[in-house]
Amino acid sequence: MSRPKPCEAVKVVVRCRPFNRREETMDNDNILEVNSKLGQITLRNPRASPEEVMKSFTFDAVYDFESKQSDIYDDTVRPLVDSVLQGFNGTIFAYGQTGTGKTYTMLGMPTDNERGIIPNSFNHIFTQISRSQNQQYLVRASYLEIYREEVRDLLCKDNKKLDLKENPDSGVYVKDLSSVVTKNVMELEHVMNIGDESRSVGFTNMNERSSRSHAIFMITVECSEKGTDGEDHIRVGKLNMVDLAGSERQSKTGAKGERLKEATKINLSLSALGNVISALVDGKSTHIPYRDSKLTRLLQDSLGGNAKTVMVATLGPASKHYEESLTTLRYANRAKNIKNKPKINEDPKDALLREFQEEIARLKAQLEERGTLAKERRRRRNSRRLTKSMIVEDVAHRERDAELWKALEAEWKRNEEYYIKEEEESKMIEEDEKGPFGEKEQMEKERMMDDMQKEQEAMEKIIEKYKAMESKILAGGKNIIDHTNEQQKMLELKRQEIAEQIRREREIQQQVMAQDEETGELRETFSSLQQEVDLKTKKLKRLYAKLQLVKAEIGDVIDEHVVTRQELEQTQNELTRELKFKYLLIENFIPPKEKNKIMNRLHFDSDEDQWRFRPFVPSESKSAHQVKRRPTSVVGYKRPISQYAQMAVTAGAPCRYRAENVMLLELDMSPPSMYNLNLNGAHLEQNFGGHGSPRRDLLANVPFRDRTTASGRIRKSRSWYQAPRSSSSCVSSSSSSSSITSGPQTQCSPHPQRPSSAIYTPLEGSIPGGP
Ligand code: ADP
Ligand code: MG
Repeated sequence: MSRPKPCEAVKVVVRCRPFNRREETMDNDNILEVNSKLGQITLRNPRASPEEVMKSFTFDAVYDFESKQSDIYDDTVRPLVDSVLQGFNGTIFAYGQTGTGKTYTMLGMPTDNERGIIPNSFNHIFTQISRSQNQQYLVRASYLEIYREEVRDLLCKDNKKLDLKENPDSGVYVKDLSSVVTKNVMELEHVMNIGDESRSVGFTNMNERSSRSHAIFMITVECSEKGTDGEDHIRVGKLNMVDLAGSERQSKTGAKGERLKEATKINLSLSALGNVISALVDGKSTHIPYRDSKLTRLLQDSLGGNAKTVMVATLGPASKHYEESLTTLRYANRAKNIKNKPKINEDPKDALLREFQEEIARLKAQLEERGTLAKERRRRRNSRRLTKSMIVEDVAHRERDAELWKALEAEWKRNEEYYIKEEEESKMIEEDEKGPFGEKEQMEKERMMDDMQKEQEAMEKIIEKYKAMESKILAGGKNIIDHTNEQQKMLELKRQEIAEQIRREREIQQQVMAQDEETGELRETFSSLQQEVDLKTKKLKRLYAKLQLVKAEIGDVIDEHVVTRQELEQTQNELTRELKFKYLLIENFIPPKEKNKIMNRLHFDSDEDQWRFRPFVPSESKSAHQVKRRPTSVVGYKRPISQYAQMAVTAGAPCRYRAENVMLLELDMSPPSMYNLNLNGAHLEQNFGGHGSPRRDLLANVPFRDRTTASGRIRKSRSWYQAPRSSSSCVSSSSSSSSITSGPQTQCSPHPQRPSSAIYTPLEGSIPGGP
């Protein structure tokens, strides 16, 4: 349920920092004039002629060089944090050029009076909680940064990229972002310090520790309170504190390489922020480009949404940053016109406090149940023990302790508590008894002790969990009786009232000034013509000056657009160059077939704003295109094996795969025909080619063996273990190939095996002198 609220403009304040040491030594002029009372800031163009009218801007508040951290907090931030405690969403973001004090304003320094908005809000939140009455609170914190358009959890060491998701109830949120439940200021500070250590910072010409990312510290405050209907109602307020990266021009930072790429992304997201602001203020735009960057998506609620928003624009006083200061002021001036519709988040579905309360109630019931159970068990145990001891007594000491038995029985009836106290006494009696019941008794006792111990442990666990959960829920009202506390509260209220008065005064003065100009002329009455001429001349001059101002403004805006366009072109060139490089890699190093495969699987996920791979097998047609499964191995074998091989193995033959020949070259066992070499003979001519062959000399007097054709002797392979007998005869005959010169031999008989099996035949050396 939510209560719709009227529109509320984004509150814009400007803060100017003092000169830094470098600016002082470089003899820079101060170009800013701050009128805190009127909320007005005037900017002087250092290159303009002295008579040129200076540019003035009016804001909700303006803080000069001497402003303290507490001023900005009490005046501007305190009301916003109070709203968050009431269940509104609130956002504070610092915008400005690098080195103008965004991080200083948001985080500040560790010293007490230099603490920034974020740590000051911790004190504020917990003080308010401690002063509350009949309310329960749960405070949790998250810390993230957007670096190069990637969202990272600063509280998680793994630095994983996180995705943005959208939920109709809670809007845009970061999936899997860690959130830490905190119980006091120290814990929140610890969370902040851990996050700060992981933040991306780098050196630029303008700031040694320039923040290179947008950082968002989020505090969620859940408050439960009994409503008029007697039911508990939960309100959830989220406070986003954003320290944006610098908005300066790339040329000023001296950024190159990686830094330039960072700057490109920073500028893109900031220009997306600018576009969102323009579209919101414009009033004509039907489309607000929130989706153009992660930053604008996350700030969607804060800009034109249901949150209360404060923008702190930071400026430096130095003349050399005139352009940047003017841009910042223009940006801030535009943001003033954004209208939000803040609403209280009441009873949201995802309130963690509700879950905690339910869990605590469950644990409490469990504890109570166990407590009564334990009590009951103890009572039963005592009574049983007593009865037993009484029986034992009865058997062994009937005569001797008859009186005691009677007394105990009477007492047991009277008061079970008494028996608990009497436990030790009955124990003594049990120990005395070493009769036929002794061992059984002992076992029973041990079992009971065991039960008791288990019970105790379970109870302790539940109590521990209960305490831990309850300690996370904070309740105020404990110090409320404290007199000083009461006074402080009053003091703060008064301070707030004064701040409110000052704010109203400022607003009225601004209105008066505006109206004065419009209505001044209506009141004018002229006594003479000359007077009328004089006054009208004055007015003409004033209007002329205004015209000049507007003309200058137009010129400035055009110039600014030109510069922005140039920068965008530069960014585009940079991206094109990178794209060309990637193309080069793809064209030259990825085979076209592979490239096509990848391209066909890619699709753009507009929800996630990312390219994604489609699965290999579309999930809906999975059953239709079943992937063929590899045949499974026979039990006991390493790999699939054919039936044939299995049979061979069972037959005891060696492994089929070890060294199998596919081809069988049958050993030629026919007796060689011997010739005496006749160098001039026609036979040799026929065998060794024409005349003049060099081999002719070499072969002189070498006995030559004539062969029949080889083609008939190539056979298909056979498994050697299929026919061990015949193969062995072959092997043995082949091994005796050295005897080819010794005379005629019997030919190896043809093998009767199947043609598909192989015979392992070592052929080397079978034809030693062969050509
Ligand atoms: P940004 O975050 O805008 O880049 P920083 O906050 O890091 O800039 O500020 C740059 C330097 O200026 C820091 O050393 C900081 O202490 C100093 N500084 C900024 N604002 C103020 C201020 N209002 N008073 C004193 N010092 C300031
Ligand atoms: Mg910074």
